[in-house]
Amino acid sequence: MKLLCDQMLGTLAIWLRILGFDTSYANDMITDDELLHIANNEKRTIISRDKELIIRGKKKNLTTIEVNTTDLDEQLHQVLRIISIDKKFVLSRCTLCNTILETRTKSSVEGKVPKKVFENNDKFWFCTTCNKYYWKGSHYEKIMHKIDEIKKEITKQ
Ligand SMILES: [Zn+2]
Repeated sequence: MKLLCDQMLGTLAIWLRILGFDTSYANDMITDDELLHIANNEKRTIISRDKELIIRGKKKNLTTIEVNTTDLDEQLHQVLRIISIDKKFVLSRCTLCNTILETRTKSSVEGKVPKKVFENNDKFWFCTTCNKYYWKGSHYEKIMHKIDEIKKEITKQ
């Protein structure tokens, strides 16, 4: 499922990319009309806090997910109750630009990432759009922990 977060949901968009979802983020420059147009063209589900935008999307037969909170964890709950995470796609996308990351061998990244990072990791990924390297690092455990917490919360309800 492809997603499109509105202008107010930038942090949520980054999290959805971390979780592996193909997520576009509407920047401040675009109007609601343009956003609806993009969602329609690219077959993206609109995620929004704007009730009016959700209603307009539904009228156009677009799929929509309404969130009604500014709290990130709550937002993730509300979205992940509707779409489910596949752990094998976690950290498969660039958080900055949504591009699917390519794997890189350890030997090929020597000198290109901080020495400590190189020494402590065996797996590396690369975004060909941003020229940015990724590795699991300490945040990976935190992300997995957060996913487990969310899943627990959702099944409780
Ligand atoms: Zn990128």
